[in-house]
Amino acid sequence: MVLNASVKLLFMTMKMDASTEAHLRKAKYGVFNHSAVQICTWTKKSLHSEGVCYKQQFYGVDSHRCMEFSPAAALCENNCVFCWRPMEFMRFRQMKASEANEPKEIYERLLAERRQLLSGYPGDGKTDKRKHAEALAPSHFAISLSGEPTLYPKLPQLVRFLKSLKQTKSIFIVTNGQEPSALVKLARSPPTQLYISVNAPSKELFMKINRPARKDGWSRFLRSLDVMSKMKTRRVLRLTMIKGMNMDDRFLNDYVTIIRKAKPHFVEVKAYMFVGFSRSRLKIENMPRHGEIRSFAENLAAASGFEIVDEKRDSRIVLLSNPKLAKHLFI
Ligand code: SF4
Repeated sequence: MVLNASVKLLFMTMKMDASTEAHLRKAKYGVFNHSAVQICTWTKKSLHSEGVCYKQQFYGVDSHRCMEFSPAAALCENNCVFCWRPMEFMRFRQMKASEANEPKEIYERLLAERRQLLSGYPGDGKTDKRKHAEALAPSHFAISLSGEPTLYPKLPQLVRFLKSLKQTKSIFIVTNGQEPSALVKLARSPPTQLYISVNAPSKELFMKINRPARKDGWSRFLRSLDVMSKMKTRRVLRLTMIKGMNMDDRFLNDYVTIIRKAKPHFVEVKAYMFVGFSRSRLKIENMPRHGEIRSFAENLAAASGFEIVDEKRDSRIVLLSNPKLAKHLFI
């Protein structure tokens, strides 16, 4: 039976275009159709006993057993000025279920890519061999590598599949809050910890900093905060602070309004980092020092009733905890 082009298109899995895939592979990503995996800097450092990431320090996840990936690696609705990723490779369009790979397939293909990316470590003379052996069976999944994971229509199934693996300890998802209806579906099988990225205190700054593809980007963000507030999981707002743009005490009340709307367990106040492709859009002066992050976090804690419970200087981040909700930090 000969399938005509449109029918083939109907059943064809979404693939990144060749130049995007080539670019990602050159940047040491593993790629499978619309998904990608990478070895995080902190996983490398942990394998070399040179330190761990702030999520290990704050929440107890193992940096060396972290699999950082995305099921929608080249799809995003936003065009954030501070993003370290190359924007020219990002597209925005919805992914249909008929175009999406199944969770098990994505996991198995990306795990194989990840093992390939890790294959050279045992011979580099610096790698802890026990940690390398453990790293081959990831226990923490960071679904935040690139693109917007809620554009992958089988995200709830992916979370359920990862939870079914015996070595799984935790699953973190970071979303830009542009797909509130996808979050409603995710609420039925939530990750261990759900993040919404907060990059602006107001609609005006949101449009300037996130540069969303859709005109209703701000109201979608607000709706996602509402959906998050009702989700039965650990809820986190990550505030990316850009000096001279969204980091000023006159915005404190607006940030408190956002916090009250989402009812998070934790708020991470993190510095914008002058790295990657963001250097063509922002200046090094836009990157706050840790001391500036600390004092802004102290004022935000005072204004919101949250408490500062930890910080990591080399990641320029301060962690605030909700005394009414957060019972324990470690997962
Ligand atoms: S949790 Fe995040 S920072 Fe830590 S190792 Fe995984 S991807 Fe890297």
